[in-house]
Amino acid sequence: MTRHDPETYLASLREEFPRLRVVAKAEDPLSRGIDAVLRLLTFGGQRAYLTRYVTTLGQTLYVPSDWDARPALERYCVLRHEAVHLRQFRRYGLVGMSLLYLLPILPLGLAWGRARLEWEAYAETFRAHAEVHGIDAARDPRLREHVRSQFTGPAYGWMWPFSAQVDGWIDMLLDALEAPRAPEIV
Ligand SMILES: [Zn+2]
Repeated sequence: MTRHDPETYLASLREEFPRLRVVAKAEDPLSRGIDAVLRLLTFGGQRAYLTRYVTTLGQTLYVPSDWDARPALERYCVLRHEAVHLRQFRRYGLVGMSLLYLLPILPLGLAWGRARLEWEAYAETFRAHAEVHGIDAARDPRLREHVRSQFTGPAYGWMWPFSAQVDGWIDMLLDALEAPRAPEIV
């Protein structure tokens, strides 16, 4: 089974992004620095940057300490999310991405650029779940709750703390994923 195999998918990403690197966060000084800053800015709310979160910067994927131990299909879905960020970096460049992602860091709680970039990537998370596990898995309330909390909680600095709006985005996306294809005209 190679269709949803993370290594096969990573190989295809390496073709699309020839300078792609995968770096372990735990041994990486930059990641450790970001971790310290995030703990400070979120008052300890984001403590899992090194251990739970995959991060894309430019053409580098920084992976957390539990990465290799995760189930293959989970790694595949995460890579689909990170592929969106790789393409965003290609589209906007390092400076453009930094501005969009980081500039509205104060006040915490309203970071429109970051929320839009992450929504584009989390939409892909839902798409990947639907493809791998079926639409019912994509509709699983636990997935919705996980994604909602990424927007409204400290993980990304409370980037879009409006639960009802995030739910509305998720509803629209799930409906679109489920919508029957238009009948083909022959
Ligand atoms: Zn993301």
